[in-house]
Amino acid sequence: MSETTNTNTNTTASATTTEALRERALKLDAADQLADRRELFALDDGVYLDGNSLGALPAHVPARVQDVLTRQWGELRIRSWEESGWWTAPERVGDRIAPLVGAAAGQIVVGDSTSVNVFKAVVAAARIAGEGRDEILVDATTFPTDGYIAASAARLTGHRIVPVAPADVPAALGPRTAVVLLNQVDYRSGRLHDLPGLTAAVHAAGAVAVWDLCHSAGALPVGLDEHGVDLAVGCTYKYLNGGPGSPAYLYVAERHQAAFDSPLPGWNSHADPFGMTPDYAPADGSARGRVGTPDIVSMLTLEAALDAWDGVEVDAVRAKSLALTDFFLECVEAYVPAGRVTSVTPAAHAERGSQVALRCDDAESVMRRLIERGVVGDLRRPDVLRFGFTPLYVGFADAERAARVLAEVLAETAGA
Ligand SMILES: *Cc1c(COP(=O)(O)O)cnc(C)c1O
Repeated sequence: MSETTNTNTNTTASATTTEALRERALKLDAADQLADRRELFALDDGVYLDGNSLGALPAHVPARVQDVLTRQWGELRIRSWEESGWWTAPERVGDRIAPLVGAAAGQIVVGDSTSVNVFKAVVAAARIAGEGRDEILVDATTFPTDGYIAASAARLTGHRIVPVAPADVPAALGPRTAVVLLNQVDYRSGRLHDLPGLTAAVHAAGAVAVWDLCHSAGALPVGLDEHGVDLAVGCTYKYLNGGPGSPAYLYVAERHQAAFDSPLPGWNSHADPFGMTPDYAPADGSARGRVGTPDIVSMLTLEAALDAWDGVEVDAVRAKSLALTDFFLECVEAYVPAGRVTSVTPAAHAERGSQVALRCDDAESVMRRLIERGVVGDLRRPDVLRFGFTPLYVGFADAERAARVLAEVLAETAGA
């Protein structure tokens, strides 16, 4: 992990430095083509840098959900499965997410949690890989749930888990590799892994690539179709702002759909769900990834929230995200006393997601004090401060203020 220790030798930034950075922030905000998106969100006058954990609420969503509850459920009741499009929501909302992750329509289905979709994807990928391959390579630095679920999937399918750092995947691949489960962006450090290169390496070894997009979808271009990804999963309550516990999604590349053999073949994925036959026959297309009755209220909350993306180009989001994280790091360097924090987020753009993770000795109390002052990030124990930059509603003045407040908090707790 490349670490950049702050080399600022001042204990406090000079007034001129502060003035210059504030002015730069104002100019950058004035030139920001995504600046108008911010007013679509319900925000307060604090700085919200935790949208990589729970995205902010788009302000129009409550009225839409109110309609789902009072009219669609309250008045139409059972008719809404047809008349309000409830039954087809998993595929319809999947098609709304598709352009954000570079997928053509018909390959993404929404439903269940990311954890459950990791299970479906890993087992189905192991079945696609076929006999004679008995290893599942799993990102050793992964968000824990992916590792837990993959381990159980491996026991069920008779495979062996091989934990491996993403950079070491090419060397670990071989004729025994069935499946490789990777994260595009590391949830802790914010490191962006090489999805095109690693997917190509997995394919060259004859294995199946499963990508977890939780920390990349909505923050940067993913290019699922372009890079030939086999299967992918991701959550919708982070950068996609779908709301607490909003359902996750599963991508199965069209070429794999016929061979996608779900380990959870519920009635919703049946070719004729209302035929109620004792024998299972899978539906065609992305519906094959469904399980049981979809959580309609959460799904339609997500569907409404996705309106915030209408007319947004993911490339513009990526450009702003990099500019924001660059500027935040520059402000931290200028404001924060030397040696107090160390960035564990790669400096190289090609290796950076949309968050900045700073290692700091007294991270827990520092984050508590930041939150008390309206700068909301989060903590990954024991010593990582995470700041997520969500380009739809975070601006450059926010980045400058967050760094300045961080420096104030660190100055106060110096030597404590
Ligand atoms: C956020 C996240 C999850 C969340 O899984 P849930 O089932 O929604 O709780 C899973 N994997 C990764 C990599 C994540 O970042």
